This record gives sequence, structure tokens and C-alpha cells, in this order.
Amino acid sequence: MTATASPIICGNWKMNLGPQSTKTLVNELLPVVTELSNTRCWIAPPFVSIPAAVEVATNSKLKIGAQNVHWADSGAFTGEISVPMLKEVGAEFVIIGHSERRHLFHESDEMIAMRLNAALKGSLFSILCVGETEKERTGSETEAVIERQVRSALTGKSERELASIIIAYEPVWAIGTGKVATPTQISEAHLFIRNLLKEFSKLVHPPILYGGSVTPENFTEIASIPEVGGALVGGASLVSQKFIRILQIVNH
Ligand code: PEP
Repeated sequence: MTATASPIICGNWKMNLGPQSTKTLVNELLPVVTELSNTRCWIAPPFVSIPAAVEVATNSKLKIGAQNVHWADSGAFTGEISVPMLKEVGAEFVIIGHSERRHLFHESDEMIAMRLNAALKGSLFSILCVGETEKERTGSETEAVIERQVRSALTGKSERELASIIIAYEPVWAIGTGKVATPTQISEAHLFIRNLLKEFSKLVHPPILYGGSVTPENFTEIASIPEVGGALVGGASLVSQKFIRILQIVNH
């Protein structure tokens, strides 16, 4: 773990848990989150469950966010949600460029940059996901892909804006597959991103998160990699005991 800023463990609930189940899970997490001394805990429920999560988490350290956001404030964009809408219900951050958005819903680097710009304009924290597919890794394109994704999103951003963007390295082949990147692969990718970030900012050193089949069983090893500043957790964030164990591994 890096010592630059306190680590972030963020749960990405994907399309799981309506408002009632959200309240149950948040209530189970809160006693542990309250006790965390040096770890930030964030969760991103589905849009319709954000108000329920915010209601239960009011006045706690748990930060609630969304899984995507549109670039316009309002308009004819069926099925989309805007920054002002998210802020109105109490969301404080947004995940942008998740590989499921990039690959299942064909979101381009340009769309992702527009979403990020909207979040910055509205002062929402962003978790920008980057990562290569299996084919790209086998074709030795990992660094080129990460570089393209980072540059297209961060070019032109001020130091102040960069301070509210957190990058998550999520190899696509490791998401929801049970295949975890090796410590060497994680370390190399994180170092590559860290060096790239230095080009954009000399002052800001946000944590870089790892995501891809994180579980309590594999996270002790991942968390011991110096460049890893936390995790974006999918499946394991839906089970309170698993997510709590992941939080406790980091918070010591
Ligand atoms: C994710 O959704 O960002 C993710 C990493 O999922 P999982 O932990 O299930 O692989």
C-alpha cells in the first residue's frame, strides 16, 4: 500500500440490490466503517438505490456514489442520469469507464472523457477505470491501451481537477472471472500508471486502485504491493462479511 493518501476500498454493486436490500447491507457495513482509522470506504449501488444508501449512511464515513453519469445536465438522453441528479440524491462520486460500460455498452474513450468532464464540472469525485482485455495483454498491448485510456481522459486537466480523479487498474480479463492478476502484473501496471500521472501533475498523488476478482482470500497479497492504494471490488462487495474482511485487511 502507498503511504501517500489513505487507501480506498470501493464496492461496485453493479446491477444488484434494490433499495430494501441496500439498506440491509449498508446497515451491516456501518459499524465497521465507523471504526476504520486509515481506510476510506465507498460504495456504488445502482441509481435507484442511492437514496436508500444515503439515508442509512447519513452522518457516517461511508461515501455513496454512482456507477456512471451522463455529460449533459438534462435533455433527451433516455436511460441516462446527470451530475445534478446524482448530487441532488447525495451521491459524492462516480465510477467512469468501467470495462462493462466500455465493452458491453461500447462506450468510447471520447464518451468517457465527456462523462469525466461533467463530473469534474459538478465537483463529483471520479474513479476512472482503465485496463486491457486478455487479447490485448497477450498481444503485448497492455501499456499502450492503458496509456490511451489515461491520456484521453486526463489531457488538459488542472492540478485541482486531477486531485478529484482516482484511477482504478482493472484488467478486463480479471473482472468477475475469478482470475486475479499476478503481483508482478499488478505492480507493473500500477507503476506504469503512476509514471504516466507524473506527466500530468507534479503535486497530486491519488491512490491507484486494483480491481479484478478481489476476495478476502487474495487481498492480503494484493494489498502488500506497494503501488496498490486500495481496491475496486465487485462480487465480494455484495456480501457484507467478505467486504468487511477486505476493509479490515487494509485498515491496520
Ligand atoms: C468490478 O466490478 O469493478 C470488479 C472488479 O468486479 P469483481 O470484483 O467481481 O471482479
